[in-house]
Amino acid sequence: MSNLMPSPETEACAAGEQCAPIVEALPERSAQVGALTVHRVLPVRGRRLIGPWCFFDWYGPLSFGSGKPMDVAQHPHIGLQTVTWLLEGEVVHHDSLGSECLVRPGQLSLMTAGRGIVHTEETPEGNSGRLNGAQLWVALPEAVRGMTPEYQCTPRLEGAEFGDSVVTTFYGGSSPGRAHSPLVGAEIAVHKGGLAHLPLDPGFEHGVLLAAGDAAIDGVELAADTLYYLGSRRQELVVRSREGAKLLLIGGAPFGESILMWWNFVARRPEEIAEARKSWEGHEWFADVPGSGEPRLVAPPYVRRPVAG
Ligand code: MN
Repeated sequence: MSNLMPSPETEACAAGEQCAPIVEALPERSAQVGALTVHRVLPVRGRRLIGPWCFFDWYGPLSFGSGKPMDVAQHPHIGLQTVTWLLEGEVVHHDSLGSECLVRPGQLSLMTAGRGIVHTEETPEGNSGRLNGAQLWVALPEAVRGMTPEYQCTPRLEGAEFGDSVVTTFYGGSSPGRAHSPLVGAEIAVHKGGLAHLPLDPGFEHGVLLAAGDAAIDGVELAADTLYYLGSRRQELVVRSREGAKLLLIGGAPFGESILMWWNFVARRPEEIAEARKSWEGHEWFADVPGSGEPRLVAPPYVRRPVAG
């Protein structure tokens, strides 16, 4: 892949950062969780981070007549933020701080785990019978990863028009979600027959996923359920669509810290993972979700492996 915007000067690039605009399809793995199809598009082989974004599950779209396609029992997190962004349907969030939110499309559900939090996520009674959305994680920088946990659930966020598109920035930029490193997360709706030039921070690296419809970036037709790494040094994103499209964009300044991710934990050293796992299994410093009476997910065995240099 050739550099589409060569710079006359050399530029310092962080480890793992592709220091030029590219359009690279990343591999994905899909799994069936009950009736729901889940695509794990980050982390994947060859790419662990895009800015501070370290996890991206894309699920649905699903139509269902009964039952709870989303039904995740109590489980812990440390060292990260979870971002829930729905395109269709509803999810109820409860956590160990006592927070409760019925999350719908257009609302940001942002949980900052910091030193530790426990939550549940489930399809509510009286739902629309549809489910489609993204579960994303953001790694917290060293300075704040042990912070007091918090939870934010916003009202429906307003989009802004750019050319033939409407951009809803759910995290970073104009979003009310409290961010701890430079980043962006946005939903882009491109009109039928539309062309949009979307300004980007050239210091960020970005990734984009086609959520619905058809779209092309730099002349590359995007495949469904696939995260494309866009590199950095990009002044704008030029998107075209024939029949209309929805896309999810993530990005941020190269994270610059090596993280250790295992199960629902983001840390730096194996000892921290082992301690968090022991605390969860031993009912030590992770509180239950109040009044939930829900079962707790059992942590898988933690096997320390040498980390490849
Ligand atoms: Mn979770």
